[in-house]
Amino acid sequence: MGIAEDWSDLMYDLTCLSKQSAKRRFKKSIKYGWGGLCGYCRCHRATTLDHIKPKSKGGDSLRSNLLPCCLECNHSKGSQPWLVWFQQQSFYNETAKELIEEWISNKRFEEELDERSTIDRTTLCSDTSTIRSQSYEPPSIGKDMLATA
Ligand SMILES: [Zn+2]
Repeated sequence: MGIAEDWSDLMYDLTCLSKQSAKRRFKKSIKYGWGGLCGYCRCHRATTLDHIKPKSKGGDSLRSNLLPCCLECNHSKGSQPWLVWFQQQSFYNETAKELIEEWISNKRFEEELDERSTIDRTTLCSDTSTIRSQSYEPPSIGKDMLATA
């Protein structure tokens, strides 16, 4: 997708950037991702970013949870579940819904990596416990004794 998932991701690319300008850049990149259109009503006044899952309901400020939208949509939606609200609107359409669902589900690759490494770690742990349960005596003690003798 080429758009940062979190504003702090931009801090790695541009080390001299301030937090504030990274956040500004992040928000801009999201709006550019939608061509300046409101994700809901498709008007050209997407001046705000909506938390698709409201902050008050535990929604985070990551790219996948932020949708450019106009002030009217943002206010009208409030803290309702986006789909419930969206389907009640006169401008509701399937294509826009699918676009938003894709935007939400297209999470950053790192999350997949994290899941995989968790599995790896679990496997490693069970391997170690198998070795330990065999109560194998280390041969290095014997070797050391021979060397000193
Ligand atoms: Zn709108």
